[in-house]
Amino acid sequence: MNAPGNLAQVTPALRSLDLIHTLVGYDTTSRDSNLALIDWIRDYLEGHGFAATLTFDDDRRKANLFATLAAVDGNATTGGIVLSGHTDVVPVDNQPWESDPFIVTARDGRLYGRGVTDMKSFSACGLAFVPEFVRRGVRKPLHFALSYDEEVGCIGVRRLIADIVARGVRPAACIVGEPTGMELVVAHKGKKAWRCRVRGFEAHSSLTPSGVNAVQIACEIVAYIAKRAREFRDAGKRDDAYDVPYTTAHVGTIRGGTALNIVPRDCTFDFEIRHLPFDDPDRFIRDVEQFAAGFLPAMHAVDAGTYIEFDNLSTLPGFDTHDGSEVTALGHACNATQEVGKVSFGTEASLFHGASIPTIICGPGHIAQAHQPNEWVSLDQIARCEAFMQRLVDRLAAA
Ligand SMILES: [Zn+2]
Repeated sequence: MNAPGNLAQVTPALRSLDLIHTLVGYDTTSRDSNLALIDWIRDYLEGHGFAATLTFDDDRRKANLFATLAAVDGNATTGGIVLSGHTDVVPVDNQPWESDPFIVTARDGRLYGRGVTDMKSFSACGLAFVPEFVRRGVRKPLHFALSYDEEVGCIGVRRLIADIVARGVRPAACIVGEPTGMELVVAHKGKKAWRCRVRGFEAHSSLTPSGVNAVQIACEIVAYIAKRAREFRDAGKRDDAYDVPYTTAHVGTIRGGTALNIVPRDCTFDFEIRHLPFDDPDRFIRDVEQFAAGFLPAMHAVDAGTYIEFDNLSTLPGFDTHDGSEVTALGHACNATQEVGKVSFGTEASLFHGASIPTIICGPGHIAQAHQPNEWVSLDQIARCEAFMQRLVDRLAAA
Protein backbone atom coordinates (compact mmCIF):
# COMPACT_ATOMS: atom_id res chain seq x y z
CA MET A 1 0.00 0.00 0.00
CA ASN A 2 1.32 3.42 -0.93
CA ALA A 3 0.35 5.39 2.14
CA PRO A 4 1.95 8.86 1.89
CA GLY A 5 4.85 9.12 4.26
CA ASN A 6 4.58 5.51 5.31
CA LEU A 7 8.02 4.65 4.05
CA ALA A 8 8.65 1.53 6.10
CA GLN A 9 5.68 -0.26 4.58
CA VAL A 10 6.49 0.79 1.05
CA THR A 11 10.07 -0.45 0.81
CA PRO A 12 11.32 -2.23 3.90
CA ALA A 13 14.47 -3.42 2.08
CA LEU A 14 16.17 -0.02 1.83
CA ARG A 15 18.13 1.04 4.89
CA SER A 16 18.51 4.76 4.14
CA LEU A 17 14.82 5.71 4.02
CA ASP A 18 14.59 6.88 7.62
CA LEU A 19 17.64 9.11 7.16
CA ILE A 20 16.32 10.54 3.88
CA HIS A 21 13.09 11.32 5.73
CA THR A 22 15.01 12.99 8.57
CA LEU A 23 17.29 15.08 6.34
CA VAL A 24 14.48 16.28 4.06
CA GLY A 25 12.40 17.13 7.15
CA TYR A 26 14.76 20.03 7.93
CA ASP A 27 13.87 22.99 5.73
CA THR A 28 17.36 24.09 4.71
CA THR A 29 16.48 26.50 1.91
CA SER A 30 19.69 28.38 1.16
CA ARG A 31 18.43 31.72 2.52
CA ASP A 32 17.75 30.15 5.95
CA SER A 33 19.96 28.69 8.66
CA ASN A 34 21.05 25.05 8.30
CA LEU A 35 22.28 24.73 11.88
CA ALA A 36 19.47 22.48 13.12
CA LEU A 37 20.29 19.90 10.45
CA ILE A 38 24.06 20.25 10.95
CA ASP A 39 23.64 19.75 14.72
CA TRP A 40 21.54 16.63 14.14
CA ILE A 41 24.12 15.08 11.79
CA ARG A 42 27.03 16.06 14.03
CA ASP A 43 25.34 14.38 17.02
CA TYR A 44 24.67 11.28 14.91
CA LEU A 45 28.28 11.05 13.69
CA GLU A 46 29.86 11.84 17.07
CA GLY A 47 27.61 9.17 18.55
CA HIS A 48 29.38 6.74 16.20
CA GLY A 49 32.86 7.91 17.13
CA PHE A 50 33.52 10.52 14.44
CA ALA A 51 35.41 13.73 15.27
CA ALA A 52 33.57 16.76 13.86
CA THR A 53 34.65 20.29 12.91
CA LEU A 54 32.26 23.08 11.98
CA THR A 55 33.16 26.10 9.85
CA PHE A 56 30.66 28.96 9.90
CA ASP A 57 29.51 31.78 7.66
CA ASP A 58 30.16 35.37 8.83
CA ASP A 59 26.83 35.56 10.72
CA ARG A 60 27.22 32.09 12.26
CA ARG A 61 23.76 31.25 10.89
CA LYS A 62 25.07 28.48 8.67
CA ALA A 63 27.81 25.92 8.99
CA ASN A 64 29.77 23.29 7.12
CA LEU A 65 30.37 19.99 8.88
CA PHE A 66 33.58 18.04 8.34
CA ALA A 67 33.62 14.79 10.30
CA THR A 68 36.22 12.05 10.36
CA LEU A 69 36.22 8.39 11.32
CA ALA A 70 39.88 7.64 12.02
CA ALA A 71 41.48 4.53 10.58
CA VAL A 72 42.09 1.56 12.88
CA ASP A 73 45.75 2.66 13.21
CA GLY A 74 44.66 6.10 14.45
CA ASN A 75 45.39 7.94 11.18
CA ALA A 76 42.81 10.71 10.77
CA THR A 77 44.50 12.93 8.20
CA THR A 78 46.31 11.07 5.43
CA GLY A 79 44.59 9.35 2.52
CA GLY A 80 41.09 8.02 2.77
CA ILE A 81 37.85 9.13 1.25
CA VAL A 82 35.54 12.14 1.49
CA LEU A 83 31.79 11.73 0.98
CA SER A 84 30.63 15.20 -0.02
CA GLY A 85 27.16 16.71 -0.09
CA HIS A 86 25.56 20.10 0.28
CA THR A 87 22.87 20.57 2.93
CA ASP A 88 21.03 23.49 1.34
CA VAL A 89 18.10 23.21 -1.07
CA VAL A 90 16.47 25.61 -3.51
CA PRO A 91 13.21 27.40 -2.55
CA VAL A 92 9.77 25.87 -3.08
CA ASP A 93 8.18 29.34 -3.40
CA ASN A 94 5.45 29.54 -6.05
CA GLN A 95 5.99 25.93 -7.14
CA PRO A 96 2.90 23.70 -7.51
CA TRP A 97 3.75 20.89 -5.07
CA GLU A 98 1.19 18.09 -4.68
CA SER A 99 2.51 17.07 -1.25
CA ASP A 100 4.39 18.74 1.61
CA PRO A 101 7.89 19.25 0.17
CA PHE A 102 9.48 18.71 3.59
CA ILE A 103 7.78 15.37 4.29
CA VAL A 104 9.13 12.57 2.12
CA THR A 105 6.25 10.84 0.37
CA ALA A 106 6.49 7.52 -1.45
CA ARG A 107 4.32 6.66 -4.41
CA ASP A 108 4.73 4.59 -7.54
CA GLY A 109 8.31 3.57 -6.85
CA ARG A 110 9.46 7.11 -6.20
CA LEU A 111 10.22 9.32 -3.22
CA TYR A 112 8.97 12.90 -3.43
CA GLY A 113 10.34 15.84 -1.44
CA ARG A 114 12.58 18.90 -1.70
CA GLY A 115 16.14 17.66 -1.84
CA VAL A 116 15.49 13.94 -2.44
CA THR A 117 17.50 14.31 -5.66
CA ASP A 118 19.51 17.49 -5.04
CA MET A 119 21.01 16.15 -2.86
CA LYS A 120 20.05 14.77 0.50
CA SER A 121 19.56 11.13 -0.52
CA PHE A 122 23.28 10.63 -1.23
CA SER A 123 24.24 12.07 2.16
CA ALA A 124 21.55 9.95 3.83
CA CYS A 125 22.83 6.78 2.13
CA GLY A 126 26.36 7.49 3.33
CA LEU A 127 25.13 8.17 6.86
CA ALA A 128 23.04 4.99 6.80
CA PHE A 129 26.22 2.95 6.27
CA VAL A 130 28.10 4.61 9.14
CA PRO A 131 27.27 1.83 11.62
CA GLU A 132 28.75 -0.68 9.16
CA PHE A 133 31.91 1.39 8.52
CA VAL A 134 32.36 1.57 12.30
CA ARG A 135 31.67 -2.12 12.91
CA ARG A 136 34.17 -3.24 10.26
CA GLY A 137 36.73 -0.50 10.97
CA VAL A 138 38.46 1.44 8.17
CA ARG A 139 42.02 1.09 6.83
CA LYS A 140 42.12 4.78 5.89
CA PRO A 141 40.10 7.71 7.26
CA LEU A 142 36.49 8.19 6.18
CA HIS A 143 35.27 11.79 6.05
CA PHE A 144 31.92 13.46 5.57
CA ALA A 145 31.97 16.99 4.09
CA LEU A 146 28.53 18.62 4.31
CA SER A 147 28.33 22.22 3.16
CA TYR A 148 26.03 25.25 3.22
CA ASP A 149 25.20 27.68 0.38
CA GLU A 150 26.06 25.40 -2.54
CA GLU A 151 22.98 26.43 -4.46
CA VAL A 152 23.92 30.11 -4.36
CA GLY A 153 27.41 29.74 -5.85
CA CYS A 154 29.31 26.95 -4.04
CA ILE A 155 30.09 29.47 -1.30
CA GLY A 156 30.22 27.48 1.94
CA VAL A 157 32.46 24.63 0.86
CA ARG A 158 35.32 27.03 0.11
CA ARG A 159 35.73 27.59 3.86
CA LEU A 160 35.52 23.88 4.60
CA ILE A 161 38.25 23.13 2.07
CA ALA A 162 40.46 25.97 3.34
CA ASP A 163 40.06 24.59 6.87
CA ILE A 164 41.01 21.00 6.05
CA VAL A 165 43.97 22.17 3.94
CA ALA A 166 45.14 24.33 6.87
CA ARG A 167 44.79 21.38 9.27
CA GLY A 168 46.85 19.10 7.01
CA VAL A 169 43.99 16.75 6.15
CA ARG A 170 44.92 15.17 2.81
CA PRO A 171 42.24 12.80 1.52
CA ALA A 172 43.09 10.59 -1.45
CA ALA A 173 39.64 10.81 -3.01
CA CYS A 174 36.39 12.73 -2.87
CA ILE A 175 33.00 11.53 -4.05
CA VAL A 176 30.50 14.34 -4.63
CA GLY A 177 26.99 12.92 -4.58
CA GLU A 178 25.23 15.34 -6.93
CA PRO A 179 22.55 13.63 -9.01
CA THR A 180 24.15 11.80 -11.96
CA GLY A 181 21.69 8.91 -12.18
CA MET A 182 24.44 6.95 -10.38
CA GLU A 183 26.64 7.31 -13.45
CA LEU A 184 30.30 8.03 -12.83
CA VAL A 185 31.06 11.63 -13.79
CA VAL A 186 34.69 12.70 -14.14
CA ALA A 187 34.37 16.24 -15.51
CA HIS A 188 32.08 19.23 -15.60
CA LYS A 189 32.09 22.58 -17.33
CA GLY A 190 33.31 25.77 -15.75
CA LYS A 191 30.99 28.71 -15.21
CA LYS A 192 31.54 32.42 -15.00
CA ALA A 193 28.81 35.07 -14.56
CA TRP A 194 28.73 38.85 -14.90
CA ARG A 195 26.41 41.85 -14.55
CA CYS A 196 26.51 44.53 -17.23
CA ARG A 197 25.39 48.04 -16.22
CA VAL A 198 24.66 50.50 -19.01
CA ARG A 199 24.26 54.15 -17.98
CA GLY A 200 22.67 56.28 -20.71
CA PHE A 201 21.25 59.78 -20.65
CA GLU A 202 17.61 60.66 -20.15
CA ALA A 203 15.64 62.77 -22.60
CA HIS A 204 12.04 63.30 -23.68
CA SER A 205 11.26 60.54 -26.14
CA SER A 206 10.44 63.09 -28.84
CA LEU A 207 14.10 64.20 -28.61
CA THR A 208 15.93 60.86 -28.94
CA PRO A 209 19.09 62.38 -30.46
CA SER A 210 19.59 64.33 -27.19
CA GLY A 211 19.55 61.15 -25.14
CA VAL A 212 21.51 57.90 -24.84
CA ASN A 213 19.17 54.91 -24.85
CA ALA A 214 20.57 52.46 -22.30
CA VAL A 215 18.02 49.76 -23.15
CA GLN A 216 18.88 49.74 -26.83
CA ILE A 217 22.64 49.66 -26.22
CA ALA A 218 22.18 46.82 -23.71
CA CYS A 219 20.17 44.91 -26.30
CA GLU A 220 22.98 45.29 -28.85
CA ILE A 221 25.37 43.71 -26.32
CA VAL A 222 22.82 40.97 -25.52
CA ALA A 223 22.54 40.23 -29.25
CA TYR A 224 26.34 40.01 -29.47
CA ILE A 225 26.38 37.46 -26.62
CA ALA A 226 23.71 35.44 -28.43
CA LYS A 227 25.81 35.57 -31.61
CA ARG A 228 28.86 34.30 -29.73
CA ALA A 229 26.73 31.49 -28.27
CA ARG A 230 25.71 30.45 -31.79
CA GLU A 231 29.38 30.46 -32.82
CA PHE A 232 30.29 28.20 -29.88
CA ARG A 233 27.50 25.87 -31.00
CA ASP A 234 28.21 25.89 -34.73
CA ALA A 235 31.97 26.40 -35.02
CA GLY A 236 33.49 25.76 -31.59
CA LYS A 237 35.42 22.72 -30.41
CA ARG A 238 33.22 19.97 -29.03
CA ASP A 239 33.44 17.22 -26.46
CA ASP A 240 30.69 14.72 -27.12
CA ALA A 241 31.03 13.18 -23.64
CA TYR A 242 28.96 16.14 -22.36
CA ASP A 243 25.17 16.26 -22.53
CA VAL A 244 25.56 19.68 -24.19
CA PRO A 245 28.81 19.08 -26.09
CA TYR A 246 29.84 22.72 -26.62
CA THR A 247 30.31 25.89 -24.58
CA THR A 248 27.10 27.82 -23.93
CA ALA A 249 26.43 31.46 -23.04
CA HIS A 250 23.16 33.17 -22.20
CA VAL A 251 21.52 36.26 -20.68
CA GLY A 252 19.27 35.39 -17.74
CA THR A 253 17.77 38.72 -16.57
CA ILE A 254 17.41 42.23 -17.91
CA ARG A 255 15.94 45.37 -16.35
CA GLY A 256 15.72 48.86 -17.81
CA GLY A 257 13.70 51.98 -18.50
CA THR A 258 10.92 53.71 -16.59
CA ALA A 259 8.32 54.89 -19.12
CA LEU A 260 7.78 54.79 -22.87
CA ASN A 261 8.06 58.55 -23.21
CA ILE A 262 11.50 58.73 -21.58
CA VAL A 263 14.75 57.73 -23.29
CA PRO A 264 15.94 55.23 -20.65
CA ARG A 265 18.95 56.15 -18.56
CA ASP A 266 19.72 52.71 -17.07
CA CYS A 267 19.71 49.09 -18.14
CA THR A 268 21.26 46.14 -16.33
CA PHE A 269 21.52 42.54 -17.40
CA ASP A 270 23.13 39.35 -16.05
CA PHE A 271 24.81 36.77 -18.25
CA GLU A 272 26.97 33.69 -17.97
CA ILE A 273 29.19 31.31 -19.88
CA ARG A 274 29.39 27.57 -19.18
CA HIS A 275 32.58 26.57 -20.85
CA LEU A 276 34.46 23.45 -21.85
CA PRO A 277 37.98 23.26 -20.42
CA PHE A 278 39.58 24.43 -23.68
CA ASP A 279 37.37 27.53 -24.05
CA ASP A 280 38.67 30.53 -22.09
CA PRO A 281 35.93 32.48 -20.26
CA ASP A 282 38.25 35.47 -19.84
CA ARG A 283 38.73 35.73 -23.59
CA PHE A 284 34.93 35.68 -23.99
CA ILE A 285 34.42 38.55 -21.54
CA ARG A 286 37.27 40.54 -23.12
CA ASP A 287 35.49 40.21 -26.48
CA VAL A 288 32.17 41.32 -24.96
CA GLU A 289 33.84 44.31 -23.29
CA GLN A 290 35.58 45.25 -26.52
CA PHE A 291 32.29 45.08 -28.43
CA ALA A 292 30.63 47.25 -25.77
CA ALA A 293 33.47 49.78 -25.87
CA GLY A 294 32.56 50.48 -29.48
CA PHE A 295 29.46 52.35 -28.27
CA LEU A 296 31.30 54.66 -25.88
CA PRO A 297 32.47 57.44 -28.24
CA ALA A 298 28.91 58.12 -29.43
CA MET A 299 27.59 57.89 -25.84
CA HIS A 300 30.23 60.30 -24.52
CA ALA A 301 29.51 62.72 -27.36
CA VAL A 302 26.03 63.19 -25.84
CA ASP A 303 27.00 63.07 -22.18
CA ALA A 304 30.33 62.45 -20.43
CA GLY A 305 28.65 60.66 -17.52
CA THR A 306 27.50 57.67 -19.60
CA TYR A 307 29.27 54.33 -19.24
CA ILE A 308 29.13 50.56 -19.70
CA GLU A 309 30.52 48.51 -16.80
CA PHE A 310 30.89 44.81 -16.11
CA ASP A 311 30.98 43.19 -12.65
CA ASN A 312 32.05 39.57 -12.15
CA LEU A 313 29.29 37.84 -10.14
CA SER A 314 30.72 34.35 -9.73
CA THR A 315 33.42 32.04 -10.94
CA LEU A 316 33.43 28.27 -10.71
CA PRO A 317 36.24 26.48 -12.51
CA GLY A 318 35.65 23.35 -14.53
CA PHE A 319 37.28 20.08 -13.57
CA ASP A 320 38.44 17.02 -15.42
CA THR A 321 39.66 13.93 -13.59
CA HIS A 322 41.56 11.74 -16.00
CA ASP A 323 40.23 8.33 -16.64
CA GLY A 324 42.69 5.81 -15.26
CA SER A 325 43.29 7.80 -12.06
CA GLU A 326 42.93 6.11 -8.69
CA VAL A 327 39.75 7.96 -7.84
CA THR A 328 38.19 6.90 -11.13
CA ALA A 329 39.19 3.31 -10.45
CA LEU A 330 37.54 3.59 -7.04
CA GLY A 331 34.39 4.89 -8.71
CA HIS A 332 34.38 2.05 -11.23
CA ALA A 333 34.80 -0.50 -8.45
CA CYS A 334 32.08 0.93 -6.20
CA ASN A 335 29.66 1.52 -9.05
CA ALA A 336 30.34 -1.78 -10.84
CA THR A 337 30.59 0.03 -14.17
CA GLN A 338 33.25 0.95 -16.70
CA GLU A 339 31.51 3.95 -18.27
CA VAL A 340 32.29 7.57 -17.42
CA GLY A 341 30.40 10.73 -18.27
CA LYS A 342 30.79 14.50 -18.23
CA VAL A 343 28.11 17.04 -17.27
CA SER A 344 27.31 20.67 -17.98
CA PHE A 345 26.26 21.75 -14.49
CA GLY A 346 28.81 23.00 -11.98
CA THR A 347 29.42 21.41 -8.59
CA GLU A 348 31.69 21.57 -5.57
CA ALA A 349 33.80 18.87 -7.28
CA SER A 350 35.89 21.47 -9.07
CA LEU A 351 36.80 23.12 -5.75
CA PHE A 352 37.95 19.83 -4.15
CA HIS A 353 39.79 19.02 -7.38
CA GLY A 354 41.42 22.47 -7.25
CA ALA A 355 42.65 21.72 -3.72
CA SER A 356 44.52 18.66 -5.03
CA ILE A 357 41.88 16.21 -3.81
CA PRO A 358 41.07 13.83 -6.71
CA THR A 359 37.31 13.93 -7.20
CA ILE A 360 34.48 12.21 -9.00
CA ILE A 361 30.73 12.88 -9.00
CA CYS A 362 28.25 10.06 -8.51
CA GLY A 363 24.86 10.29 -6.86
CA PRO A 364 21.27 9.10 -7.06
CA GLY A 365 18.61 10.89 -9.09
CA HIS A 366 18.76 12.97 -12.23
CA ILE A 367 19.55 16.67 -12.62
CA ALA A 368 16.34 17.08 -14.64
CA GLN A 369 14.35 16.48 -11.44
CA ALA A 370 16.45 18.90 -9.37
CA HIS A 371 14.94 22.30 -8.45
CA GLN A 372 11.52 21.18 -9.81
CA PRO A 373 8.16 21.10 -8.05
CA ASN A 374 7.42 17.51 -6.97
CA GLU A 375 11.16 16.73 -7.02
CA TRP A 376 11.53 12.95 -7.00
CA VAL A 377 14.06 10.15 -6.93
CA SER A 378 13.31 6.55 -7.86
CA LEU A 379 13.71 3.82 -5.26
CA ASP A 380 15.86 2.01 -7.81
CA GLN A 381 18.35 4.91 -7.67
CA ILE A 382 18.43 4.68 -3.89
CA ALA A 383 19.07 0.93 -4.13
CA ARG A 384 21.96 1.57 -6.55
CA CYS A 385 23.43 4.18 -4.19
CA GLU A 386 23.20 1.73 -1.29
CA ALA A 387 24.98 -0.93 -3.37
CA PHE A 388 27.68 1.66 -4.10
CA MET A 389 28.09 2.35 -0.36
CA GLN A 390 28.23 -1.36 0.43
CA ARG A 391 31.10 -1.83 -2.05
CA LEU A 392 32.83 1.22 -0.55
CA VAL A 393 32.54 -0.34 2.90
CA ASP A 394 34.08 -3.56 1.57
CA ARG A 395 37.00 -1.71 -0.03
CA LEU A 396 37.74 0.48 2.99
CA ALA A 397 37.14 -2.16 5.68
CA ALA A 398 40.00 -3.19 7.90
CA ALA A 399 38.44 -6.59 8.45
ZN1 LIG B 1 23.11 20.05 -5.79
